[in-house]
Amino acid sequence: MKRRNTILIIDDNKLNRATIADILRDSYQILEAEDGKQAFRVLAKERDRIALVLLDIVMPVMDGFAFLKEYKKWEEYRYIPVVVTTLNDNQDNERRCLELGAWDFVPKSDHPEVMRMRVRNAIDKSKVRLLEIDPLTEIYGQQKFFQMTREMLDRAGEDEQFAFVHFDIERFKVINATQGPQEGNRLICRMAECIREGIEGYGKGTYGRINGDVFAMCLPYQELGEVRSLIKQISRSIKEHTAHYYLETCAGIYPIEDTTMDISLILDHSAIAAGQCKGNYMVNMAVYTKELKERLLVEQRIINEMDAALEQEQFIVYFQPKYELQQMSPYGAEALVRWKRPDGTLVSPGDFIPVFEKNGFIIKLDYYVWERVCRFIRSELDAGRDPAPISVNVSRVNLYNPRFLESIINLVEKYKISPKYLHLELTESAFSDNAVIMQKAVQYLHGAGFTILMDDFGSGYSSLNVLKDVDLDVLKIDMKFFSKGGTEEKGAKIIEAVIKMAESLDMTVIAEGVEEKHQVDFLSELGCDYIQGYYFAKPMPLLDYCRLIGAVGDE
Ligand code: C2E
Ligand code: CA
Ligand code: CA
Repeated sequence: MKRRNTILIIDDNKLNRATIADILRDSYQILEAEDGKQAFRVLAKERDRIALVLLDIVMPVMDGFAFLKEYKKWEEYRYIPVVVTTLNDNQDNERRCLELGAWDFVPKSDHPEVMRMRVRNAIDKSKVRLLEIDPLTEIYGQQKFFQMTREMLDRAGEDEQFAFVHFDIERFKVINATQGPQEGNRLICRMAECIREGIEGYGKGTYGRINGDVFAMCLPYQELGEVRSLIKQISRSIKEHTAHYYLETCAGIYPIEDTTMDISLILDHSAIAAGQCKGNYMVNMAVYTKELKERLLVEQRIINEMDAALEQEQFIVYFQPKYELQQMSPYGAEALVRWKRPDGTLVSPGDFIPVFEKNGFIIKLDYYVWERVCRFIRSELDAGRDPAPISVNVSRVNLYNPRFLESIINLVEKYKISPKYLHLELTESAFSDNAVIMQKAVQYLHGAGFTILMDDFGSGYSSLNVLKDVDLDVLKIDMKFFSKGGTEEKGAKIIEAVIKMAESLDMTVIAEGVEEKHQVDFLSELGCDYIQGYYFAKPMPLLDYCRLIGAVGDE
């Protein structure tokens, strides 16, 4: 930044200007203007080097009051202090000037040394203000907010509780991009205003802007409900003023356990809580709880260990047989991954798959499972048997992996097996993420000879559209989805309709999660093709599967 060392003297009286200029010339460069209008022209050109404006009140064209009124509107002059030069004591004028945003006064009759000091003070203060106040929103910036919060927490009594809130707008970048940066700035200012009003009404607490659309607050409370309702109120008033487009706020609340903790660390905790509502329009407030902390620790451990686990072959592929309903005999299986830690504990995929889907590791793990399955099929073929197909899961993340199609095709080529042995399960909800990508991928995989199963049919909201748009071979319906909520009777009717529909669309149906005899009987009556479920068999190690199908595995 350029050094600001110039003072703009605004006075219609040439002699006055000269007198003041003489006093300040030793320390500053001087610019002059005869009235407010001319002053704005100078400001527009020279604003970067002006450190202070000295303003006379009574002037022709645009007087001091009119100047101050106009000056306030200009964001870029906010840090250039205006000091008003007065002829004599006129408290009325002084009050009006203060109201209009003047920083200080100097009587023109002051001793030169006093005038120099007042000028220097105002400039120093403006520098401090530049550091403390966020220029866009005029509330505290991060540094000052941290300091105020630190002081508040240090002052707090033993029994006082505080909640720290991380507050921002969901997908703010999208709003910025679609509504324009000016609207983005307006929204940020609106947020600041609503937060300020909200906390003023609440009567206590600190707040500030951290960066971009991220604000933070620290609030004393008795019941956490008070904090929640304050946030709701702030959120509501932000939305009221942006009714012409949709937005959702996101608040992460960290009830501070230890008030001596570093504020930046406290902020991190609230940001983690906020992460729980990101990407979820239904949830716009989340609290940092013990359970969340534990879950994060578990996740972190999984992430720390995953690479070594893959290398050391701690991931094991289990096989859950599928039973042909007509014959009541096993035909093929689904490959399901397990994680066996060196200490012998078995981690269920429900715990690690979501973590790997978040960090992308699932791409490696899926490939690993596919390869194991290909190896098994190869060994069967080598033994002179014609194995039933094994289905593998393809995570939705793979659909965004540019090398997915190539890698799966290369894999079957590497093991010299026909793609007819490797069935691919794509979960239904992946289709609603991006129907077009899915459609293309399915087309391509079909072209390469793969069979595609739609997994978890009925769990999402788009099932029927997907059936219309995408060419799929097999529907897997999960019995769990139909017993959850609603009556069993209704669930049964829906399953019946789904099976009929699949039949007319020439699709095979696999019922999954079948645990009871009466379910088997019912499905059999309806003409369902395959059953996969605990009733017949749980997922099992490869050796057990080989025994079941009368093959001898070599792994
Ligand atoms: P999924 O693909 O829907 O797999 C079926 C899940 O239902 C398996 O759970 C299976 O053990 C379970 N199951 C089968 N029959 C029954 C039954 O009768 N009753 C009950 N209660 N459950 C039954 P699992 O093995 O824990 O896998 C959970 C999920 O993890 C899978 O759901 C799949 O989404 C994912 N997953 C497993 N292995 C892989 C993998 O290699 N890659 C990917 N991307 N995901 C995998
Ligand atoms: Ca599956
Ligand atoms: Ca399933």
